[in-house]
Parts: sequence; C-alpha cells; structure tokens
Amino acid sequence: MISVVIPAFNEAENIPNLYRRIISAAQNWQMPFEVIMVDDGSKDKTLELLQKLHAKDSRFKYISFSRNFGHQTAVSAGLVYAQGDVVAILDADLQDPPEEIHRFLEKWRQGYQVIYGIRTHRKENFFKKSAYYLFYRILAWCSSIEIPLDSGDFCIMDRTVVSWLNAMPERNRFIRGLRSWIGYRQIGIPYERQARFAGEVKYTFRKLMRLALDGIINFSYRPLQIAGTFGFFVAIISFLGIIFFFLHRILNFKIFGYSPQNVPGFTSLILSLLFIGGVQLFTMGLFGEYIGRIFDEVKQRPLYIIKDQRGFDNSSTLLPGNTRL
Ligand code: UDP
Ligand code: MG
Repeated sequence: MISVVIPAFNEAENIPNLYRRIISAAQNWQMPFEVIMVDDGSKDKTLELLQKLHAKDSRFKYISFSRNFGHQTAVSAGLVYAQGDVVAILDADLQDPPEEIHRFLEKWRQGYQVIYGIRTHRKENFFKKSAYYLFYRILAWCSSIEIPLDSGDFCIMDRTVVSWLNAMPERNRFIRGLRSWIGYRQIGIPYERQARFAGEVKYTFRKLMRLALDGIINFSYRPLQIAGTFGFFVAIISFLGIIFFFLHRILNFKIFGYSPQNVPGFTSLILSLLFIGGVQLFTMGLFGEYIGRIFDEVKQRPLYIIKDQRGFDNSSTLLPGNTRL
C-alpha cells in the first residue's frame, strides 16, 4: 500500500480538485492507497471538507491539529500515521502533481528508497525564485551532509526511511535535510513545479525565513565557524595594530612621511567601532539562533496536539500520536 501525506492549511478551495486528481492518478499506481490529510489548524472549511471526504471515501483519512503548527510539523505527523510500505508527500495546492507519483514508484520498484522531485521550472515571481536559488546554494555550501539542490518535500519514501524519520526526536524539523541525512539509495527526478491551483500562499515570509534558518542551522556549524574565524582575524589585525601604534608612540617614526598621531582619526575610529559592534551583535544573534533551538529541544514539548482524527482503526495505540515523536 502507498500512503499519501498531504498537509493543508486553509486549503478548502483546493480539496475537491485534489481529490479528483488523486483518484485519477492512483489508477497508475498498481497498489491500494490511503491519503492522510493533515489539517494544520485551518480557519476555513478545510476540516469540514475533510470530514465529508472521509465519509464519502474512507481511504481519505485525516488528522486535525489544535492550532497552526507549521508545514514541516504537519508532514511529520502525517508520516507517523502513515501505514503504507511506501509514503508520498504532496502539497495540498497541487503544485506537486500527483500524476508524477507513478514515475517515482517505478524507481521505488527498482530498489531506490527515496525518490524526490527536483524542480526544473518554478512558476513563481522573480524575487522568490532568486531567493530559493540562493538559499539552496548557501545551504549546500554550509551543510555537512549532502542536501540535493532545488529539491523540496515532494517525494516518495520507503517504509525503512519513514521509520527512521519517525524515530528522530528533533523539534525543528527540516524534512528534506533529515531525509538526506538518513541515506540509503536516493534519486532525484526532475519535474515541473506547477503554479498554485487556488488560494494564497500559506508560507508567509516569516515562516519561509524560519524554514531557511532551520535548514542551515540544523545541518551545519559553519555559521558559528565563520563568526569565529572572522573574530580571530580581526583580533590578529588589531593586535598588530596595537604593537604598531605602541612602537610609534615610543619611537615616533614616520611611514612615508606620514605620522598617524597627527591624524585626528575620528571618522575611522567611529566607523571601525560601529563595524565591530555590528559584527558582534550579528554574531550574538547567530548564537541566539542556536541556543533558541537547543531550548526548543530540551523543553521536550510534544511536537503537535491533535484535536480530531478519523480513519485510523488502531487509533487507541496511535493516540496520542504526539508523544511518539
Ligand atoms: N502549509 C501548512 N501549514 C502552514 C503553511 C503551509 O500545512 O503553516 C501547507 C499548505 O497548505 C500547502 C503546503 O504546506 O499544502 C505548502 O504551502 P504553500 O503552498 O503555501 O507554500 P509553497 O511551498 O508553495 O511556497
Ligand atoms: Mg504551494
């Protein structure tokens, strides 16, 4: 069986079409399927539609969060509830076409454990496209493991990989990174990322920034190392400067007829002070990002709270699903 995990946050307009597209795409999958919709605290009619959908077609199951916990958390919850031998992750806005899944399944049958989509064309505005482009390059440069460029969460994964993902206790989840970290045989398949079918983008700029920071910080110490390296060089240069000015003071020599003591030096002094002050604050902010994440981890709060769910027969063992992560 294949499980399809779909996080949805205010996606009521997309659900009817999502249903049709999945039903027709599933004819090519050559195996039974279940769909696990995760309602991430939607404020529109998403939950109502999911309830109706489940009543009509019991293969469509759902869990519903008590509030908005975020896309990566919603996907993580769906993965805990998925029972399939292979699990697909899709967006509810139909940007990841369900019709591609059967190509992914071919690779799975050939023995790959993770098959992820690589976005060839993005139908998004220039700013967003460039930001994504830059982010994936910075991530690749920073990160200590190999995270494929331009691959999102759209993928299918073998049960083994899903079990490992479920066994990972971390709270700041950057799923595409964790997925690479797990290893096994992975392969990327190019596909064209569609435009959103209906509704507005649910990833606000803040959420996207947080995801980007999660990606970089959870997979690398390099930002800390850069801060350290920079501080080291600044310290060396200032130390040489101290020796130089000290000697100058005692011996009162001139370099190329120029005597530093005669220069008022206010501008350069203020500028360097401001610069170093800025760098220090930035570095402290950077430490803060790491420390905040450590704080999140040690609190050991459940990753999410489920207020309603339907379609899981052994629900007594699954609930509370939140304590299993
Ligand atoms: N999503 C979610 N919780 C959020 C934000 C988004 O579950 O807080 C879902 C959303 O419903 C969609 C998917 O995550 O199915 C991707 O979101 P979106 O299309 O807004 O972002 P994109 O990846 O296209 O920039
Ligand atoms: Mg989208």
